[in-house]
Amino acid sequence: MPVQCTADCGKKAILKRPKTGDALCKDCFYFAFETEIHFTIVKGKLFKKGDYVAIGASGGKDSTVLAYIMKTLNQKYNYGLKLVLLSIDEGITGYRDDSLETVKRNRDQYGIPLKILSYDDLYGWTMDKIVSQVGLKNNCTFCGVFRRQALDRGAMQLEVDKIVTGHNADDIAETVIMNILRGDIARLQRCTAITTGSEGAIPRCKPFKYTYEKEIVMYAYFKKLDYFSTECIYSPNAYRGYARSYIKEVEKIRPSAIIDIIHSGEQLNVKEQVKSRMPTQGTCKECGYISSQDICKACVMLAGLNKGLPQLGIGKSSKHKKPLQIILDEKTAEENGTVVNARELAGKILGSYTEPIPS
Ligand code: SF4
Ligand code: ZN
Repeated sequence: MPVQCTADCGKKAILKRPKTGDALCKDCFYFAFETEIHFTIVKGKLFKKGDYVAIGASGGKDSTVLAYIMKTLNQKYNYGLKLVLLSIDEGITGYRDDSLETVKRNRDQYGIPLKILSYDDLYGWTMDKIVSQVGLKNNCTFCGVFRRQALDRGAMQLEVDKIVTGHNADDIAETVIMNILRGDIARLQRCTAITTGSEGAIPRCKPFKYTYEKEIVMYAYFKKLDYFSTECIYSPNAYRGYARSYIKEVEKIRPSAIIDIIHSGEQLNVKEQVKSRMPTQGTCKECGYISSQDICKACVMLAGLNKGLPQLGIGKSSKHKKPLQIILDEKTAEENGTVVNARELAGKILGSYTEPIPS
């Protein structure tokens, strides 16, 4: 006998909601999915009427569904938002060029304007070139740091009030676990916040904070949304992969694991003593963009790449200043005619190596 939709609409159920286990018909699933996100937006006070909002768009499932949902909810609930798609072209041949074609189709399908910024224009480096220098071990650290700043730069150029990103509940739960395993208290405290970067920076919001990845895929599938599903060709990201597999295992015996992990992160109270040691937001002395250090991580990494010392900037943020200072000293040495061997110098500077921190 066919299962009836548990929302009592009289129709046949065609799916089982991963988040609640409810058997639902397509329309009741759309309603539940969209309404939950609307509640998240309202409860988190993500927008004000008239806000100009940039949607971080990669062409992948999360950001494609986000663009569609933002347009749908903006109309349905009369948020009064002006929307724009903001994409970053990392310069990954055979991956980002194709996914950006998807974003261009989304621009036309949803009638939302699109702005694209490239690493090549901003930094003079594409990810293809970076990988040829650094290999496949720390590439995501470079990519994550540059993308974060590129999004900020794009948002500033557009003069938007907010950036929304497609980070979903699974991503956030994984980040909580990764930060616990690393003992990174500063990030652990920040990573469950629905809005970040309010002080000075353009706020970033995550309307999918409580939305399961499986439901995003289901929604995209039933709505026949046009998205790009290929993985990045440079995606090692082993550490996140471990966190992901761990959560999947826990989910088998505790289906609410994802939401429980997020709630645990939210409840975390960091001691005042620890908070006082956390860096405060300021601006980078080199590029003028948001940074918690004198020199931002993007500038340190860029200096490293341009100097043939790509290891610089990989590791704990408190170590930034020292390597850059030595690089700057090295410049002076070159000017004075007392050139030092850059690689020898790098060996001295880079004491310990730490696992890359993906964005
Ligand atoms: Fe960049 Fe790594 Fe993501 Fe590829 S997988 S887009 S290299 S962060
Ligand atoms: Zn900088």
